[in-house]
Amino acid sequence: MRINLRDLTLEELEEFMTGLGEPAYRGRQIFRWLTRPEVEDFSVMTDLPKSLRARLSGIATVALPQLVERKLSTDGTAKLGLRLSDGEVVECVLIPERDHFTLCVSTQVGCAMGCRFCLTGRMGFRRNLSTGEIVSQVLLARHFMEESGIADRPLRNLVFMGMGEPLANYRHLVKALKILTHPQGFHFARKRTTVSTVGLVPQIRALAEEFPVALAISLHAPDNDLRSRLIPATRRYPLEEILAACRDYPLRRGARITVEYVLLSGVNDHPWQARRLVEILRGIPVKVNLIPFNPHPELPFKRPSESRVRRFQEIILSEGVVATVRKSKGLDIGAACGQLRAELSLS
Ligand code: SAH
Ligand code: SF4
Repeated sequence: MRINLRDLTLEELEEFMTGLGEPAYRGRQIFRWLTRPEVEDFSVMTDLPKSLRARLSGIATVALPQLVERKLSTDGTAKLGLRLSDGEVVECVLIPERDHFTLCVSTQVGCAMGCRFCLTGRMGFRRNLSTGEIVSQVLLARHFMEESGIADRPLRNLVFMGMGEPLANYRHLVKALKILTHPQGFHFARKRTTVSTVGLVPQIRALAEEFPVALAISLHAPDNDLRSRLIPATRRYPLEEILAACRDYPLRRGARITVEYVLLSGVNDHPWQARRLVEILRGIPVKVNLIPFNPHPELPFKRPSESRVRRFQEIILSEGVVATVRKSKGLDIGAACGQLRAELSLS
């Protein structure tokens, strides 16, 4: 099988080229080409000798997944479906903000974590995405922005909050982060690139060492008892260990870890749970992001009333902790948090 060069970091591309007896700078040239949404084969890489392009086509590809679904929400959010080379489908979500776009990126087809309130979790785990498949979501989103005439605002922020648990696909995730933030390539800012995790402690610590970016933790409950019922992974990594890994996580000046908290009516939205949440977070630089549950007929929870959400938020705020309520976007097209599930999957 031909190697897909989108799976390689800049250093790996340079090595690949020197391995072919070519100078390393050929790798840098290709790396730059691969940041352009219209590039799908070597023929357009006009600064490479023709003979080299022909040779590369024989042993390598730069193929992209196919954009097979474009759903536009009334609020401007777009859900994009990508068909991968083996027929699997993943989704990513392009979210308009005032002066930029944010892309919500997937890292797996399905997810093995089985959180009770999440549709992706119900779908089960199919497979990890390759590095190239992760990076390609950015390219196809940019391609979509151009073809829809909305490229006036830049795609500036990346959140790894799509399908899958990013840290369960650690190797490919870190390579994708290296590619996407490289100054000679896509050049996304590390502080504007957020990895969201259900709390896989060894991988949080590994990311802290190897390639720290902004971190979001899906907490969703202030004690292990309730949390284990909602998130089975709690049995492997209890709250104390997750919070210790957060305490040790390197942050730039003024930066905070995002604590995500899905509000489930009558389950984790009681005032005492807000107070308990603040207690366990004490001493960690965090901002709490409350996500009112996005309902689905297959999911056994309810969204709390607005006043209940506001009460929960006010308790946290009154303790001096930053708390925001996430406005769910793309609800009407199944693009909001926890609603992603590949319905097009062929196999
Ligand atoms: N696996 C990672 C990232 C993907 S999920 C994680 O769990 O952090 C992104 C966010 O959506 C998580 O905080 C998740 O808990 C939340 N989420 C899942 N299902 C949801 C639902 N039905 N309503 C609202 N948020 C949900
Ligand atoms: Fe997986 Fe995150 Fe959904 Fe849990 S919430 S099942 S970790 S995608």
